[in-house]
Amino acid sequence: MNEIEYKGKKIPYILVKSKIKNIYIQIKDGQVIVKVPLRVKEQYINELIKKKSKWIYEKIEENKRKTDIEEKIEQKDIERLSKIIQKNVKKYSIELGVVPKKVRIRDIKYAWGSCSSNKNITINMRLAKKDEEIIEYVILHEMCHLIYMNHSKEFWKLIEKYMPKYKENRKRLKNMA
Ligand SMILES: [Zn+2]
Repeated sequence: MNEIEYKGKKIPYILVKSKIKNIYIQIKDGQVIVKVPLRVKEQYINELIKKKSKWIYEKIEENKRKTDIEEKIEQKDIERLSKIIQKNVKKYSIELGVVPKKVRIRDIKYAWGSCSSNKNITINMRLAKKDEEIIEYVILHEMCHLIYMNHSKEFWKLIEKYMPKYKENRKRLKNMA
């Protein structure tokens, strides 16, 4: 079994040899995977892993924290999120004069919200425990995409019109897990 040592803790990892040029370290579902080129020397791999051990350890801890946050979302949080969405979709449909076809709550990984060209809006489930203001910002953002399918100056101006302090919310969202 391959192991990395960091501060007395042993972290197992899977070594994968493959036709690649560089070494990659991946952390997926708490599992460390080290992908290496076919002809790389074992000593070199060990040294690199040693150097990266702090980073690997911190990544694993970070992933654990994120999982904790997800697990704490309960049915009542989803219901609250759903109500906030309904309220704001109604409000901005009137203000903006556009109506989304469907609004869904999903556990999406890489965005807080999305808007498709079919006018379907998806809101990230992980917003369920956030402030109403933050949720409102995401809804407004996605609703404005029904008018501008881009992040142009006009798009941001439209958001600013309805939420003059949107930049604060945007910044806070960027810093959230
Ligand atoms: Zn956007």
